[in-house]
Amino acid sequence: MVDADQTFVIVGGGLAGAKAAETLRTEGFTGRVILICDERDHPYERPPLSKGYLLGKEERDSVFVHEPAWYARNDIELHLGETVDAIDRTAKTVRFGEDGTAVRYDKLLLATGAEPRRLDIPGTDLAGVHHLRRLAHAERLKGVLAALGRDNGHLVIAGAGWIGLEVAAAAREYGAEVTVVASSSTPLYSVLGPELGNVFAELHREHGVRFHFGARLTEIIGQDGMVLAARTDDGEEHPAHDVLAAVGAAPRVALAEAAGLELADRAHGGGIAVDGQLRTSDPDIYAAGDVASFHHALFGNRLRVEHWANALNGGPAAARAMLGREVTYDRVPYFFSDQYDLGMEYSGWAPPGSYDEVVIRGDAGKREFIAFWVKQGRVLAGMNVNVWDVTEPIQALIRSGAQVDTEALADPHVPLVSLVP
Ligand SMILES: Cc1cc2nc3c(=O)[nH]c(=O)nc-3n(C[C@H](O)[C@H](O)[C@H](O)COP(=O)(O)OP(=O)(O)OC[C@H]3O[C@@H](n4cnc5c(N)ncnc54)[C@H](O)[C@@H]3O)c2cc1C
Repeated sequence: MVDADQTFVIVGGGLAGAKAAETLRTEGFTGRVILICDERDHPYERPPLSKGYLLGKEERDSVFVHEPAWYARNDIELHLGETVDAIDRTAKTVRFGEDGTAVRYDKLLLATGAEPRRLDIPGTDLAGVHHLRRLAHAERLKGVLAALGRDNGHLVIAGAGWIGLEVAAAAREYGAEVTVVASSSTPLYSVLGPELGNVFAELHREHGVRFHFGARLTEIIGQDGMVLAARTDDGEEHPAHDVLAAVGAAPRVALAEAAGLELADRAHGGGIAVDGQLRTSDPDIYAAGDVASFHHALFGNRLRVEHWANALNGGPAAARAMLGREVTYDRVPYFFSDQYDLGMEYSGWAPPGSYDEVVIRGDAGKREFIAFWVKQGRVLAGMNVNVWDVTEPIQALIRSGAQVDTEALADPHVPLVSLVP
């Protein structure tokens, strides 16, 4: 069949979906491209929602992946505010919208992303309990933080992951009182392990954030629909006017699961299982972005990467694979974060238990350093904090799998590139 007679459907209008649509056109696909998303906003990028946009430093218009007119100009049929609720793999159709419109696909991309996990405790239905995933959430939270700052109010954040910490930083900049409650012993534990979390704990403490580690929220106490306090499992009560649940995100797999597509097991982060071409267990259906779990040859493991760069690159990779191009999706996972005056980038994958030492190059106390997670002399991951333009050599070191001299790795006078074989 020629391109022009084909229909490619993309479910999910986040960064992965929007970038896939763009790539189909830049690669010369002339058939129908249908992009369906349950959000009413045009596809946008989420990182500013907990940083510049939340702080009022970036305009609303700056978060969109493309300007609205781009879709019509590129002949992308955009269905916003419509949910895809079924895939019929035999008829090769998806059903969407309130009237149950069915559209036939030749190739289908699932870029359904992830959704915030909920706190399963009493009080979560109170008006002052928030999540942060969508533009509308960020708009609301912005108003909440400004009001808390004005009135000396208290925000309790459940979770000391990236979003919890970034919102803590934003809330302090607005002048709100902030307490972060986390079951781990240090922030960002599942990514950084015990060694580096304290760099972030200290940073936040210096800015007036209180931490309550090793505890879980058990109840949000309210009166007349308003939040009054948050209680933890050790019996403590933290004053709160608002609570942010930042306890991670779950991949949106319901559609894929109902269609009988293979899912990755939960121990590997769940998600839709795809191969190195981002193809699911159905050869005409692909998945990319937060929802996809792919086998990474470098780490010998299935990974589901919930980060911007994976959506930015995974969407286009899936689009090329849908067009029959040769694709091997094996990028080194990468993400970034900004909190107060600390900027960082992290490349690789080294959860606690996977490495045997952490090598520091630079001054962790001054928060200007690179940390390397190393196993048997091989670099699994690297994080540069307030040090820039080093992502390439860090990723080259990881990719090489070579044994490095850890003394040289720790020595800022030895150029990183000289360690890459
Ligand atoms: C507040 C915040 C800050 C972040 N900051 C950073 C950062 O600093 N650095 C970083 O690397 N990463 C960051 N991330 C992560 C990054 O934004 C995500 O990895 C990225 O958004 C994933 O893109 P995606 O397209 O895969 O999924 P999503 O952005 O989740 O998009 C999926 C879309 O599909 C829609 N959808 C789902 N199911 C259906 C359906 N059945 N029918 C129709 N539509 C559907 C969803 O509503 C959504 O609009 C942040 C995320 C958040 C929430």
